[in-house]
Amino acid sequence: MNKWEIKGQWVLITGASSGIGSATALAFAEKGAHLLLGARRTDRLKTTVEECIKKGAASAQFHYLDVTKTDNVQEFIQWSKTFTDKLAVLVNNAGGAKGMDTVAEGKDEDWEFMIQANVLGILRMCRASIPLLLKNPGSLIINIGSIASRLVYEGGSVYCAAKAGELQITRTLRLELCGTDVRVCTVDPGFTETEFSLVRFNWDEVRAAKVYEGMTPLTANDIADAILWVATRPSHVCIDELIIKPTDQASINKIHRKKTN
Ligand code: NAP
Repeated sequence: MNKWEIKGQWVLITGASSGIGSATALAFAEKGAHLLLGARRTDRLKTTVEECIKKGAASAQFHYLDVTKTDNVQEFIQWSKTFTDKLAVLVNNAGGAKGMDTVAEGKDEDWEFMIQANVLGILRMCRASIPLLLKNPGSLIINIGSIASRLVYEGGSVYCAAKAGELQITRTLRLELCGTDVRVCTVDPGFTETEFSLVRFNWDEVRAAKVYEGMTPLTANDIADAILWVATRPSHVCIDELIIKPTDQASINKIHRKKTN
């Protein structure tokens, strides 16, 4: 069984300024890929690019990207085309949650961020990138979903709805691209300790730390490892849906927490 060779191939990762996106960039860098990285914090992207070069990337470039803006996504893809006209992997990772309000107390700006970044962002990136993926048989779209796409919790209405949207978009793409040699996958993590909870709770470090209290969460590297595994299966193998949870997390709210005192 031959692995799909990533060395020398072009990989585009959204949300590569922190967490899972940054770890994924480094994992592909170690395999000698060419990297195109986007996010809004370009200072952080610059650091990721420098680390990717040290890890052995064939090349690594970054550019400002806000997936909530159609014009900006198009501009990002135009910039990408100055390096390559074909893509091997598109990792739609940009996204996240804002707040944990009930529906009765929810805020428009939080709802709009979650739908824009997690749902419309993926659609915009796919629409702009599919022509580049079609030129590279065996290429992949890897969308980062969540166990929240399949399970709900109080205060999670819009994030769960957004990730359920991501899941159904992934499944639709799988149908629409069948016969084109473009593979489509969703990687759906449970608790992963990144900046996710800090962003969700407006950089309240105490509240963010409570999410993982007494349990062992996944790390960004655990998810990056899985993404790289998905991307290196032979081209006739498509990992459609991959759910990854910490051993301590059996479901969204079924978490084994060790007593601290
Ligand atoms: P993170 O450390 O907060 O990373 C989120 C990334 O998304 C950042 O690089 C951020 O970059 C980028 N981003 C956010 N809005 C963006 C926008 N409008 N345009 C472009 N980039 C944007 O959190 P993470 O855990 O690595 O999250 C990565 C993905 O995993 C997200 O889709 C998240 O929903 C999903 N996920 C996370 C967990 C978890 O427990 N951590 C579990 C399941 C799924 P900038 O702010 O610089 O733009």
